[in-house]
Amino acid sequence: MRYSGIATQSDAGSRTSPSTPGQLQLARLLYEELRALGIADLAMDDCGIVTAVLPGSPDRPSIGFVAHLDTVDVGLSPSVRPRKIRYEGQDILLNETEGIYFDKVAHPEIERYAGDDIYFSDGTSVLGADDKAAMSVVMCALETVLEDDVPHGDLYVAFVPDEEIGLKGAKRLDLDRFAPDYAYTIDCCELGEVVYETFNAGTAFVEIEGVPAHPMSAKGVLLNPILVAQDFIGLFDRRETPEHTEGKEGYIWFNRIAGGQAGASLQASIRDHGLAGYEDKKRRLREAADEIGRRYPRATVSVRIEDVYANIANHADRSHPAVAAIYDAMAELGIEPRTVAMRGGTDGSALSAKGLVTPNYFTGAHLFHSRFEFLPVSSFVASYRLTLRLIEDAGGR
Ligand SMILES: [Zn+2]
Repeated sequence: MRYSGIATQSDAGSRTSPSTPGQLQLARLLYEELRALGIADLAMDDCGIVTAVLPGSPDRPSIGFVAHLDTVDVGLSPSVRPRKIRYEGQDILLNETEGIYFDKVAHPEIERYAGDDIYFSDGTSVLGADDKAAMSVVMCALETVLEDDVPHGDLYVAFVPDEEIGLKGAKRLDLDRFAPDYAYTIDCCELGEVVYETFNAGTAFVEIEGVPAHPMSAKGVLLNPILVAQDFIGLFDRRETPEHTEGKEGYIWFNRIAGGQAGASLQASIRDHGLAGYEDKKRRLREAADEIGRRYPRATVSVRIEDVYANIANHADRSHPAVAAIYDAMAELGIEPRTVAMRGGTDGSALSAKGLVTPNYFTGAHLFHSRFEFLPVSSFVASYRLTLRLIEDAGGR
């Protein structure tokens, strides 16, 4: 609740890093708390990236934990006032002044937690269990490890900013400094969720130059870049889009267009779980530029593609020690795993692309990115127990 009380919405329009000062404030608090735990190998950089290393037995694998400092800005209040409510099936009043009730009809999954204590916001903001629950889990696990002399290998911790605006903190994370054998993000997701498959993701930037002319003498001269852009988009399958795909189907999503008399530009997101499908989509975008160039020899069409993040499973399948350890620990704890192929990316997708295998497991929260985000205490505790078990189990007990 202390972490939630610090306003850390990230801001996609900001040019600073971290994007908002609240994230620095939370980073400083975590830094001080880590120091108070007695962790000596501790650093915080200008972007608010906090890293800590707790040395352990060299016979055991070293593992890392990553959580993000920011909460998402979806137009709700940046100030979070969390509260804990015992849920017994009653209507849940989140905010008396504004008359905001938890919408039980739209979100019947709440019934699974009847009899449980549950954290909610006051209905004017997200709860921010995404991802402050993970911070609590990591800090409590470290505290337990130190107090109870739990055997462990080298433990690495990273708290990173600006996950919600493009995994920016994880992309900046220095892997010489944060250098475990493998790592985990603890982020989003209800009890039992495991993510080691995410999208491969890229962005295509298409630039088109036409030939402007005054319309009074335009015949045979004017080449309208807006119509060329239209034809470019027309080369793609209208069913290979986010609104027509699900599960492990990839897509190309044209999501930005700008243009005038002289030029036009397009932007598209490329997403696919499979590497082959991802590369194929990139190839088709480049071929489209060639095709349009042939069709309009007087136009200039270029495509630049940036890889944004990669599927964790490109580097690690179910049998990878980092992934297998999650399922083993869940079996020991009696937690039913729910494996999800995420139609998106995690900080672990950015880290895995940089060579550090980093699957994700649950905080226990539901309905993140909404005013109805909630975190059952039992799931929160399960996330903590799982974290501790991963630390204990690494290298065998
Ligand atoms: Zn998150």
